[in-house]
Amino acid sequence: MNRPAHTWIAARAVALLEDTGSAKGLVDLLKPHSCSATVGSWLPDMGGARPGSGFIGNHIFKIEPWSDSKDKHYITPKDKLLKRLGNYRAVSGFLKDPAYQLPASWWEVAYKGDAAPGRHIPNRAMAVCTMLKDLILMGDKEVDGIFPGTIDFTPYLVSKVRTRAEAVATYFFMLSHFVADGCVPAHCDARKMMGSSNTKGLHGKWEDRIAKIVGGYFEDANLICQGTVPKEKQTGFQVVKQSRQVPVVFKNEPVPSLGKDDKGKDNDVWMEMVNVCRASFAIASIVAPKEEFPYENTKVNVSIDDVFARPNAVPADVVDKMSLHDAVLNTAIVWQSIWNDVIQRKK
Ligand SMILES: [Zn+2]
Repeated sequence: MNRPAHTWIAARAVALLEDTGSAKGLVDLLKPHSCSATVGSWLPDMGGARPGSGFIGNHIFKIEPWSDSKDKHYITPKDKLLKRLGNYRAVSGFLKDPAYQLPASWWEVAYKGDAAPGRHIPNRAMAVCTMLKDLILMGDKEVDGIFPGTIDFTPYLVSKVRTRAEAVATYFFMLSHFVADGCVPAHCDARKMMGSSNTKGLHGKWEDRIAKIVGGYFEDANLICQGTVPKEKQTGFQVVKQSRQVPVVFKNEPVPSLGKDDKGKDNDVWMEMVNVCRASFAIASIVAPKEEFPYENTKVNVSIDDVFARPNAVPADVVDKMSLHDAVLNTAIVWQSIWNDVIQRKK
């Protein structure tokens, strides 16, 4: 996703929590700072945030057929993946739609993402999540006032080590970046034709199309802060309000918890994101079937029309809105899981 899309996703996740009455205190914390925090939503794509890795190499999860195709650990049958994803994600509806089926044999093969250790989307999301809980527990007065209760180490924290509400909001927006990228099919498919946002390949062109749905309001030139004063005097309240104008529709029901594993145990964010990335890879494989675009193909210059203007192609608008919907919903799910965990740890 590009900057406007990432900014919108984070702002819309705040709006979704608010509209559905989910994680209420968290909304009180994030909403006032949802303009100054927008930098967090796209900061992970900046060169300085990925030293040595180049391009987007520090948070991808590009999946491909695993050399040992019968390695059960990396095989996820369709029914299992759908169960793990729950029925609330747009991607689940898509994978069940008879119009867009992958052959049964596709689900019997092992697939694996092979990013460098610590540098794939589930790792990055989990890392921010874990640290963020502690940073909230070390919060300043404003943060403390929103997360009720006390914690045993509070008396040992001098005011300067406490985390400001603006910083907490910015870290939540950073987290949304990793979650959102996991919902982009091109981000989760290792085929050379997919490329990355700043190389040839489908990725960048696909993202540009997604950004058109989001619209110009979320360009960072409109929102980025100058010093402490948001440009054009935007406030977090305006940014969140404006996010509802983008034509992606959400159900008015409480934001779900993280899913469960096959034994019924609660997922952590790492596992949740692995499942989300696997679903995105399946979508990429429906959009660009391996029969026409083999996984081992080294061709880079594939145009957006080569994929989306084929006879029986998946409508671009359907895929793009699905990615945006799930990026927002998954962000809200992960954020809410932090909120629930932190309030349980306070007494
Ligand atoms: Zn990214």
